[in-house]
Order: sequence, then structure tokens, then C-alpha cells
Amino acid sequence: QTRERRQVIYEIVNYPEPILRAKGRPVGEITPEIRTLVEDMLETMRAHHGVGLAAQQIGKDIQLAVVDVTGCEHRESKMWGDGQPVDPEAYMPLVLINPELKLTKNKVRDVEGCLSFPGLHTDISRAARVKATVGTLDGGSFTFEAAGLLGRAVQHETDHLHGRLFIDLLTDAERRDLRNQIERIKMGLPATDESDDEDL
Ligand code: ZN
Repeated sequence: QTRERRQVIYEIVNYPEPILRAKGRPVGEITPEIRTLVEDMLETMRAHHGVGLAAQQIGKDIQLAVVDVTGCEHRESKMWGDGQPVDPEAYMPLVLINPELKLTKNKVRDVEGCLSFPGLHTDISRAARVKATVGTLDGGSFTFEAAGLLGRAVQHETDHLHGRLFIDLLTDAERRDLRNQIERIKMGLPATDESDDEDL
């Protein structure tokens, strides 16, 4: 028995709301409520033009996130299943339930933003490649490797699930340089004054 239902689009929780620092509880059984929440999170992510969204960003401290890099042609994503390259778009959207990551030691630096930090985009160093094992909505598990934008998104969302934010990865000097922008976000303003914004 199916019931027509409109998806709920949540408001995004912005920095410095304390829930963004909450460590998520592991998701247990995949209940209908979890499935509904996943649908709503996907709808919320799309409504805000994000490529990833973690439960903390809609005010819930559980280890559940969604990612979708479909259509991000200007930023390459790579994915492997059983060590063989696969087409990332065939696996989108990706639901990350209780993700466990293994990160390579070598890092890559690339620009990163976060829906909870409106208007802030800055270079962040992250592991070049990640091996992820995640729970799936059918109660099983799924292991894959990812690099490029997808690898970055999986790391960024998994950090959210443990209360970690991308600004934690800045050096002290980088954080000082971004201080004014971060202060604007704390005041509820977008980081960048759009009249001075240069799109590079
Ligand atoms: Zn984020």
C-alpha cells in the first residue's frame, strides 16, 4: 500500500549551531522512518543545489548522509567497485549509512564549500582516495573507492556525521584569512558580500 507523499524540504542548519558539532549515533535497523528521511534529505540537498548533505545539517545527530555528484561535469569524480573502475553516475544518489573510511596518506588540495557555511569556498587538503564501507537501505553493506569530487564529498559528509567541519582542516593562517567571512556566517549573513564577489 503506497501513499502519495510530498517530500519535506528541510531548512539547512548553519554554523555555528551546536548540532553541527554533535557526533551522530549509528543508524540501527532500516525503518520506514529512515527511508522517508533519506528521501527528504535527497530532496533537501537538491533544493539547495548541494552535492552532499549530512543529517546534522537538518538538525539530526545520526550517521546518515546523502551524496549526488550527477551533472558536476567541471569536477571529475572517480569510483571503483572491487578495484575496477565504475561509472559514478550509475551509483548516484549514494546513501551513506554508518560510513567507515580508509584514507590514503597522499592528499589533494581543491576548493570546497558547505551548505552550512553559505558563500564560503576555500581550498581544503584531503586524502586523494578513500575506501568507504557504508550500510545500504536494504540492510546490507557496500564497499567502494572514490576520488576526485566524489572522494572529497564522501570525506566531507562522513566528517559531518562525527561533528567535524571543513574549517577544522584549515591551518591557523588560513583560518585567520577567512576570519571575516566566518564572522559574517556567525551573524547569519552569507560569507561573501556579493557586490564584491569575483567568480574566478
Ligand atoms: Zn558540509
